[in-house]
Amino acid sequence: MKVVKFGGSSMADAGQYRKVRDILMADPQRKVVVVSAAGKRFSGDHKITDLLYLCYAHVKYGVDCGGVFDMIASRYLDIQHELGLELDLEPELLELKKRIDSKQISQDELVSRGEYYSAKLMAAYLGFQFVDSADWVKFNMDGTVDQEKSYAALRHQVLVGYGAVIPGFYGVMPNGAIRTFSRGGSDITGALAAAALNADVYENWTDVSGILMADPRIVDDPQAIPEVTYDELRELSYSGAQVLHEDSVFPVREKNIPVNIRNTNDPSAPGTMIQAKFEGDHDPDRFITGITGKKDFSIISLSKRGMSNQVGTLRKVLSVLERHNISVDYVPNGIDNVSVVLPTASVEKDLFTIMAEIQREVEPDTLDVHHQIAVVAAVGRKMAFRPGISGKIFAALGSSGINIRMINQGPDELNIIFGVDNKDFKNAIRVLYSSFITK
Ligand code: ASP
Repeated sequence: MKVVKFGGSSMADAGQYRKVRDILMADPQRKVVVVSAAGKRFSGDHKITDLLYLCYAHVKYGVDCGGVFDMIASRYLDIQHELGLELDLEPELLELKKRIDSKQISQDELVSRGEYYSAKLMAAYLGFQFVDSADWVKFNMDGTVDQEKSYAALRHQVLVGYGAVIPGFYGVMPNGAIRTFSRGGSDITGALAAAALNADVYENWTDVSGILMADPRIVDDPQAIPEVTYDELRELSYSGAQVLHEDSVFPVREKNIPVNIRNTNDPSAPGTMIQAKFEGDHDPDRFITGITGKKDFSIISLSKRGMSNQVGTLRKVLSVLERHNISVDYVPNGIDNVSVVLPTASVEKDLFTIMAEIQREVEPDTLDVHHQIAVVAAVGRKMAFRPGISGKIFAALGSSGINIRMINQGPDELNIIFGVDNKDFKNAIRVLYSSFITK
């Protein structure tokens, strides 16, 4: 059995609903469907979730949200009419508008209605069972999901042998209030459903033919990654690639369920397979799985003569940052110096206090901060124990005149991370892509 999740662009209009149905009909194992709210139909269009947040903001500040609400309602009613459904959402939408006007609805409940209506329409269109996520995704008071309770509740709800449609993005608190995940959270709902039902595969249908090897805004027409491990994916998304919602990997990974990223607009493309490991090597010449990165980091560096013989310097620096609730991304160091690399946005506000505290507590000989640093990560499980890869990376960057500000490689050799100036960021990614990926 496969759990299949369709993102916002796959739910954007009646034409997309038809494509979803064709995809489901093509494989009878695709039984449980998780859907997002309607997304953009064309560039410049609005996502329903954004409009719902906007609607809530109007009400909060005492402004009538009628215009925005009409846009939302007509998107769903258009789909309903175009597909000729018997289901009529209009009375529910009118009821919702009344609750909004009388301020009887929380922000989370209001924005959750995007996926709720998508799922209602899709269930009616397919003739599948509608399973409300308010009846099975159970949050704990601290905002985490109670997996055991949720899984049991879903197993209890889903009728075996029938198809089911489930709205993504939300669940219910112990007191019965609706709560949403963070943005993009329908991926998590899909993963929870796949784990609950012990699916063979979790298919995540979107509008690209898999996870791309590099950001298409930087590299022209990058290739899709055919196979990636959960560990590589974690590195790729931590370092900047926008793929799945980060928290969606945990439930499927625990149960060893492979994830397949697919394209609703190109269903014949195999997409990207994500699993714990792969047997065999289909492309032995390729060492790098993907290249990604983020701009706007700062490096705080300090040096002190004899630091290598003293105990506790790094701990003191880290404890200053800990007091300010700042987490550190990388800690490159030398014999008598140490640096910490962190997102500029996280230190900006308290920078002077932090520097003063480090100065007082560590008494370094020099203390500097450098901004405008970009971190680039080359990720690949096949780089491990293979000599020469970093040599090739740095040679390629060097011959393109890109200066490297920091280098970091973890002991698992799953990635090679380096810092460059913000201005060299895109070029660094392009140089790596063209030296390693296009052959
Ligand atoms: N509709 C929600 C959002 O736009 C959740 C999702 O689509 O995954 O963030």
